[in-house]
Amino acid sequence: MFNLKERLMLTDKGWKDLKKAIAACTLTNLSLMIPFGVTIQVFAELLKPLTGSEISWNRMWMLFGLGLVGFVLVFLASKNDYKKTYVVSYMESEATRIKVAELIRKLPMSFFNNKNLSELTTNIMGDCATAEHVLSHLIPQLFANGISLTIVCVLLSLFDWRLALTVFCTVPIAFLIIFLSRKLQRRMGEKHVAAKLDASDQVQEYLEGIKVIKSSGLLGEKFSALKDSLKLMMRRAMKMEVGTGIFVTGAQMILQAGIGLTVFFGTYLLTGGEIELVPLLMFFLIVVRIYGPILTELTLLPELFYMRVSTERMRTLFSTPIMEGDAERPVKSYDIAFENVSFSYGGEQGEEAIRDMSVTIPANAITALVGPSGSGKSTVSRLIARFWDVNKGRVTVGGVDVRTLDPEHLMSYMSFVFQDVVLFNDTVYNNIRIGNMNASEEQVRAAARAACCDEFVERLPQGYQTMLGENGSTLSGGERQRISIARALLKNAPIVLLDEATASLDPENEVLIQQAISTLIEGKTVVVIAHRLRTVAGADKIIVIDKGRAVEQGTHEELMQRHGLYERLFSIQQESLGWSV
Ligand code: ADP
Repeated sequence: MFNLKERLMLTDKGWKDLKKAIAACTLTNLSLMIPFGVTIQVFAELLKPLTGSEISWNRMWMLFGLGLVGFVLVFLASKNDYKKTYVVSYMESEATRIKVAELIRKLPMSFFNNKNLSELTTNIMGDCATAEHVLSHLIPQLFANGISLTIVCVLLSLFDWRLALTVFCTVPIAFLIIFLSRKLQRRMGEKHVAAKLDASDQVQEYLEGIKVIKSSGLLGEKFSALKDSLKLMMRRAMKMEVGTGIFVTGAQMILQAGIGLTVFFGTYLLTGGEIELVPLLMFFLIVVRIYGPILTELTLLPELFYMRVSTERMRTLFSTPIMEGDAERPVKSYDIAFENVSFSYGGEQGEEAIRDMSVTIPANAITALVGPSGSGKSTVSRLIARFWDVNKGRVTVGGVDVRTLDPEHLMSYMSFVFQDVVLFNDTVYNNIRIGNMNASEEQVRAAARAACCDEFVERLPQGYQTMLGENGSTLSGGERQRISIARALLKNAPIVLLDEATASLDPENEVLIQQAISTLIEGKTVVVIAHRLRTVAGADKIIVIDKGRAVEQGTHEELMQRHGLYERLFSIQQESLGWSV
């Protein structure tokens, strides 16, 4: 059936449920015909005196009884219908939301590099809501109405095929109008969605940057950008509604013309003596009654086209290759190696951030990555963690190519302490516990103590139970970093990837963080992205990176003797330190 299942991106269960929902809806429609049929019969009975015969009260009572039975049937069918359409479609859309969330977890970072977060949120929430609505309010009704209309059409033709034809001749024309305009409607829908995304981006940026915007006096400028994008969204929404409205109203008018046609042609047949008054009145009643659901359908159809925009986007999401790998294979040793690795953020064609790099990072030792800013240090640590996959060569941990390992499994061997710590809108305690959700309260507190968090947590109003605002905005940079160290301590992974802070911390914070880090890295395989070369001097191995290449490797002494880039960087830093003192 035009591969509806695939188009609506339904699960097997969802597809089965949809078929059941269509059946339930058809049943409701058919059961609704009983009271309608009874009404017509009563009507015919009441009109009998006009044609000279008597009203049969026995028949009236029978019709009354039939009406009651019909009422009960309608009630039962509607109840069943409700369960099969609404409840089931909400369950299906929940399943889709979970599926999308699961998928996002497995997508490579390259995906997130292209898509911004607001589009992702719209994907999960908005598209599912549209799908939910279409599944519960549209598709079952659309099909069920189609089925019951066909039945009614056949029954009416048995009475009088000429009048039946008059009643139904406008239906295909009305649908054709909507159908032919679908491309135009879809295009308007796409434009509207794009404007909506842009506006939500602008709102997000505005809210997040409000402090900077205010302090830098950009308020007017930023606000007008926001205003422009909101205005554009409004204009596109109106254009879409008007565009859709023209076709829908046009189609509705053509459909309603059917009433006039039926009355006209019916009266013509009546005066010609080709039809009796009672069947004619019955046709009049039916024509008014039957156009109701078709009118609703005409207004709902454009929604189906709008849904195409949503499902197209979901399809792109679902067709993105995910990062897979063995989730069981144990990693037995923790030495890391890069073998002729080349990597570019833009895929094969992009500019290479890492060029033909071959380095080894020994286990249970501290290896420092140094180099000018933008040389590729962070990229090296991202490749170790398989945030991205290399374009050429391979990265191994304990001799195992990281591409053969499931990213989450690989992650269980690694802790990160990065500058841009992500804190959740939760308590301090829970933010630390993220390192290891199975940890006992005692372990969480011990990790917090070892990471020197105690001292500032005590000062918070509710200690460990204090809620941290959105991304921990109430804490200082140093405090946030200590929380991330506590997390890493709690995780106790054998490999630690560390990004030393570039932002200058106050001396007290600096000392505490150094202390916390030295507890964390004890006996671990450590890769540290170092920004201050003085702290690197104690590393077991230093890898100097320049423009994506490993240009020098060795200990501090060895590198100083080579009189190369390392020595140059070191002396520059020494001088600048000297000046700043
Ligand atoms: P470093 O950590 O040494 O400062 P990076 O590894 O962050 O350097 O960056 C190396 C190169 O890769 C730079 O040219 C940078 O612009 C580019 N780069 C870094 N991250 C991304 C990204 N997410 N998308 C595209 N290019 C990136």
